[in-house]
Amino acid sequence: MHKINAHRGKIQTVGCTDILGAEPIKRVLEVDQSPIGRTPRSCPATYVGFWTAIRELFASTPEAKLRGYNASRFSFNITGGRCTECLGQGVVRVEMAFLPDVVTLCEVCRGARFNSDTLVVKYNGKTIADVLSMSISEACVFFEPHPKIRYPLQLLCDVGMGYISLGQQSCTLSGGEAQRIKLVTELARSTPKPGIKQPATLYVLDEPTVGLHMADVSNLLKVIHRLVDNGHTVVTIEHNPDVIAEADWIIDLGPEGGDAGGQIVASGSPVELAKKMPKKSYTAKFLSEKFTSAG
Ligand SMILES: [Zn+2]
Repeated sequence: MHKINAHRGKIQTVGCTDILGAEPIKRVLEVDQSPIGRTPRSCPATYVGFWTAIRELFASTPEAKLRGYNASRFSFNITGGRCTECLGQGVVRVEMAFLPDVVTLCEVCRGARFNSDTLVVKYNGKTIADVLSMSISEACVFFEPHPKIRYPLQLLCDVGMGYISLGQQSCTLSGGEAQRIKLVTELARSTPKPGIKQPATLYVLDEPTVGLHMADVSNLLKVIHRLVDNGHTVVTIEHNPDVIAEADWIIDLGPEGGDAGGQIVASGSPVELAKKMPKKSYTAKFLSEKFTSAG
């Protein structure tokens, strides 16, 4: 994700003389498909940022208080509560000369990542290791009474990520999954909170629906609409017709793909495009058929 300070000082434009009407936009964020966290220490729970609230919840249990455990005891990234054999990784990497590293399950914690004393503490019958191995949709139900934890989990479910486990290493996620996690992280931050004004942001998304099922595409659209409802702007590069039909404004590039494209063949709202049917625009043709069949 790149932060571009487009409005600090004069903007340098290439291929056009000026940009008009951009003043209300305070920042630009590109939510791309590049990997999140190359280290095995990052996982969806730590990346999106609700892991701290879960650790605090464990530290607030009577058992943790009795033992004098604070929230850092429940971190697999710092010494104290984690397994000392695998340093909280759950696996041990063995370097092999001339061969790829061999990764085996840690023999001490059996993949739990924490030491046995830490695992005595339970919240609603689950240890911190049980929570890490929960799927996001399971966790959504488990943390129902805790809005600070449940809200980002719900957003992850909304973008079709319910099947991922909380502790899955970020570096094993696909480009599309990484992009959706970034989107959720942003959305969790950009939702208006009482008394705090969020800077109006321009989000640039590159094919956010890649790898998603139909049902998840419509959920992702709801998430994008929510960003717009919160006062932000979303520009998305997209081939999925259902997403294109939901846009407020379409810029259709073509007429063909690759070297045979790159020209603006049509622009306008989906309804306008469907009505006008500019000759070279496949998108307009599709929209016209879609709106006709929908009545
Ligand atoms: Zn271990």
